[in-house]
Amino acid sequence: AHAAGGALEAACQHVPGALMKFNDIVVQKGLGSWIWDTAGNKYLDMTAGIGATSTGHCHPKVVEAVREQAGNIVHAQQNIFKAHTKQLELDAALSRIMPQQLTKYFYCNSGSEAVDNAVKIARAATGRECIIAFDGGFHGRSIGAMALTTSKVIYKQHFGPFMPGVHIAPYPYCLHCKVQAEKGHSGYHVAPYMPPFDSPDNRVCCGAPQEALEWMLVQHVHPGDVAAIILEPIMGEGGFLTPPPGFMAGLRQLADKHGILLIADEVQSGAGRSGMWWAHGQFDGGAMQPDMVVFAKGIASGYPLAGVATRQHHFDNMQPGTMGGTYGGNAVACAAALATIEAIESEGMLGNASQRGVQLMQGLVGLADRYPIIDVRGRGLMVGIEFGSSSSSGSSSSRLKAEKGVAMAVTKAAFKHNLLLMTAGARESIRFLPPLNVTAEEVDTCLNGFEAACKEVYK
Ligand code: PMP
Repeated sequence: AHAAGGALEAACQHVPGALMKFNDIVVQKGLGSWIWDTAGNKYLDMTAGIGATSTGHCHPKVVEAVREQAGNIVHAQQNIFKAHTKQLELDAALSRIMPQQLTKYFYCNSGSEAVDNAVKIARAATGRECIIAFDGGFHGRSIGAMALTTSKVIYKQHFGPFMPGVHIAPYPYCLHCKVQAEKGHSGYHVAPYMPPFDSPDNRVCCGAPQEALEWMLVQHVHPGDVAAIILEPIMGEGGFLTPPPGFMAGLRQLADKHGILLIADEVQSGAGRSGMWWAHGQFDGGAMQPDMVVFAKGIASGYPLAGVATRQHHFDNMQPGTMGGTYGGNAVACAAALATIEAIESEGMLGNASQRGVQLMQGLVGLADRYPIIDVRGRGLMVGIEFGSSSSSGSSSSRLKAEKGVAMAVTKAAFKHNLLLMTAGARESIRFLPPLNVTAEEVDTCLNGFEAACKEVYK
């Protein structure tokens, strides 16, 4: 039984109502893909703390590394000391897994802070002010990162004004691409895909978002004023969208033409989540080649470590003292990150993420003939589904319009089956973010729970 309503509310009286809560669990402990509440109930956690607990809850190697480091030194402050030993070991590990061109690593504590710092670096390195971000993107909750965030208005309500100099470009959300509908296409994306989802044979982009971006540089903002374009290689909070073929390569070309830096915000998609270390490598043969990678979440299995990986010369114009932060590169967080990278490598979690991802996507595609799932998408263990209308009649465009609230209703129904899921985006999508070492059996349990939840909502 879950904790009773009144007693729970009293116990949680100091928790602000401004935080979204997907359930009423008071957590006791976690292990691997599982969570236990104070009443001893056990839940399958397919949120991994929004993709942060990449190696599962309390991976023994991470626990051990943290224990050891906590007794050695915790806070070897980055503005006081040249470096600490765990930082240098982590630097070496990152230089193995980061794109080769990115050789400088700045550490901080959260994804939002890392995004803000990426903006600072881009502005200082280029001497330009403006940043282009994409419609539906999420980059964080600081005043800077919020300016770049357009996945839901709720994140910004009452909080403006935000950082100036931001321009928002359309993103190729092909499933709902209006231009394509206007051209009379039926919407090739309406039937769910089987992997590989982006094969040029079954997915064609109308090219409108690319054109719109180019047009922005004619009409809205002079390219000579643009410091950087930031994007999530797989759009996360906005609904788990993958870019269509050619889009990432096109961005690189555009950026090169105008001397604009490309920032890959890999906070959610990175650190092995997609089955590769960095999700930008999944598209167009890795042609995006970012000038910066922003990382957080999964890199340290839930410990607060984030950062920006940049090219060597980006710091050339910056005086000592321009960057910093009290806790950045905290030694315990660095030890957790190092143990995370080593566990992902030594336990073959990238391969597991790819294989379990295909199992999960195929299972979800299999449910699409019984429930109004109009899209299954993602890479590796960053998997999303979108619901459409449950009425079987109507044109393909009316099939795209789901009943409002169904994704949340299914998420809540899944909770009754002890399965933890989250919604994503402003439409009716659900995301699946298991740890990278999730087992085949756990994926089956997840699929069964999800099917039971769909059955309950669409009875
Ligand atoms: N960027 C992306 C792509 C994210 O998904 C998130 C968090 N959901 C952030 C930035 C912000 O990270 P944090 O919550 O650690 O500030």
